[in-house]
Amino acid sequence: MSGLYIHIPFCKQACHYCDFHFSTNLQTKQPLVEAICKEIRLQKDYLENKATLQTIYFGGGTPSLLSESELDSIFQTIYTHFTVAPKAEITLEANPDDLTAEKLRLLRQSPVNRLSIGTQSFYEPHLRYMNRAHQVQEAIDSIKQAQDAGFSNISIDLIYGIPHPDHSIWENDLRTAINLQIQHISAYCLTIEPGTAFGNWLQKGKIKQVEEEFSIEQFSMLIHTLAAAGFEQYEISNFALPDYYSKHNSNYWKKQKYLGIGPSAHSYNGKTRQYNIANNIKYIKSIESATIPATVEVLSVPDHVNEYILTSLRTKWGCNLKEIKLLYDIDLKEKNEHYISTLLKRKLVTLEDHILKLTPSGKLLADQIASDLFIE
Ligand code: SF4
Repeated sequence: MSGLYIHIPFCKQACHYCDFHFSTNLQTKQPLVEAICKEIRLQKDYLENKATLQTIYFGGGTPSLLSESELDSIFQTIYTHFTVAPKAEITLEANPDDLTAEKLRLLRQSPVNRLSIGTQSFYEPHLRYMNRAHQVQEAIDSIKQAQDAGFSNISIDLIYGIPHPDHSIWENDLRTAINLQIQHISAYCLTIEPGTAFGNWLQKGKIKQVEEEFSIEQFSMLIHTLAAAGFEQYEISNFALPDYYSKHNSNYWKKQKYLGIGPSAHSYNGKTRQYNIANNIKYIKSIESATIPATVEVLSVPDHVNEYILTSLRTKWGCNLKEIKLLYDIDLKEKNEHYISTLLKRKLVTLEDHILKLTPSGKLLADQIASDLFIE
């Protein structure tokens, strides 16, 4: 399974929590799209053995800002230089304010067959608090119009842990999402990152972090409410109806190879990971002179093992200790015998057939448990 990721680094406005790479200066959009097409040509052999693409993912930034002709030129370049599987999952991240009926009609005519819509909240004051560019009604309309246009694989993003006196807003967000009959939900806890507007305000004491307990309660509501509505939590932050897991993201978690195109995009070929420069102008200039502006990191055995522990523990498939032993000759169970038996006693993990999985209470401590198991 091989995947292609295309990073579209433009947004209409900066959300207060966001630390992704994007620019609100859209003047370089056209040259950047040309550079993306050129990078696709330059990188056509990155995935060995002329791999067939099973997934293509347009992320950002805001890929729904691409015009019909810009998206078309990217697709034409992809289809010229890669073989795309007939049933490939092709996702485009979109913001509700871009998804007009006309835009959706055009997207339906393109190869895109999955939409990931950045709704984030169905409560107007929370959208304003986060500086989102859309309104609640636009989010609801965009989802319904996408369904009317014929999209039958729709994911939405939601954010919990937003300051509020009680959980009523989050409860309503979850109910609204379920009633909209979408197939997939990615739900993330609001985190305050340095360098963002929230990060700066936190430093100046203008805002406060919500209590951890508050976010944990909302995480628990998320799990129970979506389970009752038939969604499976196949990764800590990702919930899907049966047969609607994100294939692209599942491939990341299963350590499949992927090629990332565009500023700040990452690629992984099984041996190395590389990161493109997170600067639009420098990216364009470098690609114009036929140089991939990437930093390459050769992964050591601990890098491979620790990444596998971190990502696999977050998934429903769990961390396969036998596979680690076979691939790297490392007996994680023996190395952590005492720690794993403590986790088992505290009912934070299960261990069956050499597969370590987090229990619902373990999921609350996922990162901590993973880092405790890391090797050096
Ligand atoms: S639209 Fe998405 S990528 Fe752009 S600033 Fe907001 S969260 Fe970040």
